[in-house]
Amino acid sequence: MGSSLRRLPAVGAVLSRPELILLLEQVPRELVVRAVQQAVAEARARLAAARDERAGDPAASRDGDADSDLLAGVAARAVALALRDASDSLRRVINATGIVLHTNLGRAVLPEEAVSAVTRAARGYSTLEYNLAAGRRGSRHDHLRELVKLVSGAEDGFAVNNNAGAVLLMLNTLAEGREVIVSRGELVEIGGSFRIPDIMRKSGATLVEVGTTNRTHPDDYRRAVSGRTALILKVHTSNYKIVGFAAEVPPAQLAAIGRDAGVPLLYDLGSGAIYDYGLDGLGGEPTLKEAVGTGAAVVTASGDKLLGGPQAGVVAGRADLLAEARRNPLARALRLDKLTIAALEATLRLYLRHAGDRRALAARLPVVGMITRTAAELRPAAEKLAAGVEAAAGRWCEVRLIEGASGAGGGAFPARDLPTWLVGVRHRALGAGRLAACLRTAATPVIARVEQDELLFDPRTLLPGEAELVAEALAAACLTEQGPGAPEEGDITPPEKDIAPLEEDTTPPEEVDSCA
Ligand SMILES: *Cc1c(COP(=O)(O)O)cnc(C)c1O
Repeated sequence: MGSSLRRLPAVGAVLSRPELILLLEQVPRELVVRAVQQAVAEARARLAAARDERAGDPAASRDGDADSDLLAGVAARAVALALRDASDSLRRVINATGIVLHTNLGRAVLPEEAVSAVTRAARGYSTLEYNLAAGRRGSRHDHLRELVKLVSGAEDGFAVNNNAGAVLLMLNTLAEGREVIVSRGELVEIGGSFRIPDIMRKSGATLVEVGTTNRTHPDDYRRAVSGRTALILKVHTSNYKIVGFAAEVPPAQLAAIGRDAGVPLLYDLGSGAIYDYGLDGLGGEPTLKEAVGTGAAVVTASGDKLLGGPQAGVVAGRADLLAEARRNPLARALRLDKLTIAALEATLRLYLRHAGDRRALAARLPVVGMITRTAAELRPAAEKLAAGVEAAAGRWCEVRLIEGASGAGGGAFPARDLPTWLVGVRHRALGAGRLAACLRTAATPVIARVEQDELLFDPRTLLPGEAELVAEALAAACLTEQGPGAPEEGDITPPEKDIAPLEEDTTPPEEVDSCA
């Protein structure tokens, strides 16, 4: 063993440093000890690597670090690790990407009404499965039934854990051991490993593919129907669009083909809009009512996409089929908890309350408000943000206003950009990736876009009060970075975790810039 490894501080020596003793007042001992062990192990690896390097070059000078520096360094690293482990893992962040339904950042921001409903349900007992009038057991499915019926126009409705669960439940209930016909143009992957062929296999149904990637015709479906057919499945291609020489069978026609053959249509709508975004010039996302109106026997949709509520899978459709689904043991496994029921009920009630007043709804429902904000409406917010950023960080950065685009995200409006105004920030010395990394270390981390070495902030997804926090975080990042002893680029350990910047992008990031 080389002499340098003998310089390695002992865990006990690190633990008796004053900064660690202080830390033990706030952080559980178990976490502190583990952090010290990790910091020591990291130092050991570093020393061993340095020794191996020197081995090839006997003339090389010995590592000049005094042992006390080494000890201080290990202690500082241990403190950082322990504080990280002691802080919440699920943290609030500021979404400055402009992607409204950013799956990695938690999709829909809930309306205030939903937040209060969750708090009420969490703080006390509730009628989750209790029928007050009768004084006996009730069903948790009853809370959402009338509301889902009203917003969708369907005969019956309920909700489960998410839309992937809703699709799985309906396929398993209605088609286990039998066949389901799907167009090859609709064998979608939604990300986070929701893929139609895989979910089909797990449901116990057999996938029957018809048509081609770009074109599927009514006769393709008609020819595929047999005595083994349980369902026709229509999947809304919510995160891509086939353009050019393309043809698909509209859901209403599919429902008619199914009726003629005595086969129900299951329509996986995905986004599940209740608000008609088409009236804002945003076409292509059918509402729940329109989907049910096509004659589909069952429609499923996400609660936290265009609907703007909590994570859930909304199921609307024929009463006999839904009753069968509720009796399926899978419905028990996929059931909603009381907090989600409270949030979803409150969100759906908002749609009813403001049915005749689009502006009032947009003001109360964050997702509707964010998606329908026009570039003209966003411009003053961008100007204000630019002015705040300029005042806070103009010493270090060039700030400009750019006409740009936001994405809806969350599998909605796939081929469509929402016009916006962006604030572009370029640091005169630091790369945009590095600056973005520093923003992610802010007390309330800020997630921004980086394009062509420029940091882009989109006011579309900023909530009230967040523009000020963005400016503050940027100033703090610039200040830390210019301070004495700021490490050189490349001289730093990679961040412990990172949020993939793009919707549903589950590929691991390659080299990520990190902050000091
Ligand atoms: C998003 C989506 C899903 C998955 O919904 P989750 O609520 O995320 O489980 C399934 N199908 C389609 C068409 C979608 O757009």
